[in-house]
Amino acid sequence: MGKFDWFWKAMGSSSERNDKKSKGIVSQAHGLIANYEQRSDAELVDAIRGTVADGQIEKKPEFLAVLTVASARTLGMTPFEVQNQAVLRLLEGDVTQMATGEGKTLVGAMAATGFALTRKRVHLITVNDYLAARDANWMRPLVEFFGLSVASVTEASTREERVNAYRSDIVYAPVTEIGFDHLRDNQITHRDQTVQVAADVALVDEADSVLVDEALVPLVLAGSKPGEQATGQITEAVSHLVEGKDYTIDSDRRNVFLTDDGASKIERALGIDSLYSDENIGTILVRVNLALHAKALLIRDVHYIVKDGKIDLVDASRGRVAELQRWPDGLQAAVEAKEGLDVSEGGRILDQITLQALMRRYPLVCGMTGTAVEATDQLRQFYDLHVSVIDRAKELRRFDEADRIYATMDEKFAAIVEEIAHINSTGQPVLVGTRDVAESEALADALEKRGVNVNVLNAKNDAEEARIVAEAGDLGRVTVSTQMAGRGTDIRLGGADESDRDAVVELGGLAVIGTARHRTARLDNQLRGRAGRQGDPGLSVFFVSLEDDIVTAGGADERVSAQPDEHGLIESKRVQDFIEHCQRVTEGQLLEIHAQTWKYNQLLADHREIVDKRRASLLDTDQAWRELAERNPARAAELEGQGIDRVVLEQAAREIMLFHLDDEWSEHLALMDDVRESIHLRAIARETPITEFHRIAVREFKDLANRAVERASETFDTVLIDADGAHLADAGWKRPNATWTYMVSDNPLAGGGNSVISGIASIFR
Ligand code: ADP
Ligand code: MG
Repeated sequence: MGKFDWFWKAMGSSSERNDKKSKGIVSQAHGLIANYEQRSDAELVDAIRGTVADGQIEKKPEFLAVLTVASARTLGMTPFEVQNQAVLRLLEGDVTQMATGEGKTLVGAMAATGFALTRKRVHLITVNDYLAARDANWMRPLVEFFGLSVASVTEASTREERVNAYRSDIVYAPVTEIGFDHLRDNQITHRDQTVQVAADVALVDEADSVLVDEALVPLVLAGSKPGEQATGQITEAVSHLVEGKDYTIDSDRRNVFLTDDGASKIERALGIDSLYSDENIGTILVRVNLALHAKALLIRDVHYIVKDGKIDLVDASRGRVAELQRWPDGLQAAVEAKEGLDVSEGGRILDQITLQALMRRYPLVCGMTGTAVEATDQLRQFYDLHVSVIDRAKELRRFDEADRIYATMDEKFAAIVEEIAHINSTGQPVLVGTRDVAESEALADALEKRGVNVNVLNAKNDAEEARIVAEAGDLGRVTVSTQMAGRGTDIRLGGADESDRDAVVELGGLAVIGTARHRTARLDNQLRGRAGRQGDPGLSVFFVSLEDDIVTAGGADERVSAQPDEHGLIESKRVQDFIEHCQRVTEGQLLEIHAQTWKYNQLLADHREIVDKRRASLLDTDQAWRELAERNPARAAELEGQGIDRVVLEQAAREIMLFHLDDEWSEHLALMDDVRESIHLRAIARETPITEFHRIAVREFKDLANRAVERASETFDTVLIDADGAHLADAGWKRPNATWTYMVSDNPLAGGGNSVISGIASIFR
């Protein structure tokens, strides 16, 4: 904690006050339960309605008591007092810290019900499709008991299903679907095409994951566009470059830089004077840089796999193939070229939004996670959210061992295999958290060779992830998974049916092994949290080597000397402290990168908001017609004179205005991408890059608005408009007929749980 000590203290006092208050309400509620248990279902519904006044829950003890009885009746679960307390904190708009297995699903549904009773629509945001569908179905009886509606949206939902689902009081969905639907809704040309209905509240499960780790991941809506120029020649030239001589990679492997030697090699190969001339900087240099990223930083089978002649991205932190995800087009094409595949059709970005900007659209955001305290600073800084810590229902009985530190990665790896085999020989279940898919596979191979049976969670058995994780606590199991895999699934001791529970408890419960410390202690704690649920016994230990990423990145030039034993094990308090120090440094770096990247995103997010408002007024009023008629009264009179229905004319004007607005916005995004790119490449000395970026962005955005209206006005003058409306497509003003969505991969370069931060993500979006 160190540097934030003052802050923890400040937080402590205010959340203690809240704590006292909500504990008082919870115990009052407790006293009322017996009374409500006597009432009929209908009476309970009446009673809960009676607790609401002025859009608020006024009688909180009564509210909680009725919910408690209803939960017992409909779900067979009587909420613990700590759960009721968490419900109150959520209704106040906090992020509540509740450990794994404490029953956040029920808490979320109860709070969402509370919001819905006060006529607020809730988006309950889950980490994936599976959990959205599971939780909506699981919690449905409770929600419907009160005459409220609940639904889920997943990637598989059809348009019609989405339209219906979004009109429910409570909508469970992963943030990606919510974001993509939002983006698609910003392409419509008539209000009745809207799919999503805005919600008043976002209640985020595993809140730190969405709100912090993935905050700067941009969701992208792209449209098709005829094939781009071949990248073959550039790929070829780049493939001959040599690391260390022609290019260098920074220490945390996030960025790659051409040296002067490398640049002149490329210039010779392409027959151009200078890569850095004004003429080449926005075009050829950008593509060279993409090809170099693809060559030097994106490793096959770590960051992507090649399957059926296609690139499939591996989402490093989850260790899965990320379906329907692409890198930004240039990079995707560069990797395809590197692998000698057909370069896929180019596209253009129509619109994009970061998760942080998406979440800030909600009037109220609240959430729950096992690791909120460690994210306190970010949650406050990015969203102005407060953290409330909820006690565990039962005391934690997990033992967290000190790190086992080794000199080299090889020695560490051998020791991990040894430890797993040893634990497994006793029958105690082991869950291993790795950094990426490649490490999972290597570990599984080594263990299989020792005769240890291993379940690996990775891209290949994606669909079964939840089922496998549910069994991870069974006798004799070894489960190897990346950080996020199977998150949200309950790991019960003795298997999902708990048939061998006593035996596993006897052996010490679930043992969790981390193969490396993450860049933040918070991610380490998420992994540890898989063991010791609801007072179960358990164990957690991390293995570290002095060659690990966080040590090299966080330790920078500092060195520690230590005397390892014959297995390479280092037992020294000083080295332990050094590792902690390295992690604090990487945490600081992450915050800094986030702050920097957000500075770039913020302005575009503000611009997007303006475009959004403009779109809304064009959609909802006759503004488009009025503006165009004012600019060109003769044309307006001519059209009116033809006896075309006024509604048709207004819609024609609307489509014309929207077409050019959207087109200009898409151009703006592309341009600002290039600007950001070349600003970094040129490292302009006169001004700080961000100031320069802002100056250009503001100027361009002003032009955008004017140009959109100018162009619309021209089109209005020339395009055929008749009783069928404006014939825009015939005039070459065609909207993309196919769109696809993707998120710029989580931190494709760093592996292991931290999203966003890395080179590609931050350069491109
Ligand atoms: P979390 O999301 O906090 O990790 P879950 O919501 O998945 O936890 O719940 C973990 C387990 O606890 C589930 O099996 C659930 O049925 C059980 N559970 C939660 N609350 C209660 C309760 N009040 N009474 C009995 N079981 C509960
Ligand atoms: Mg959960």
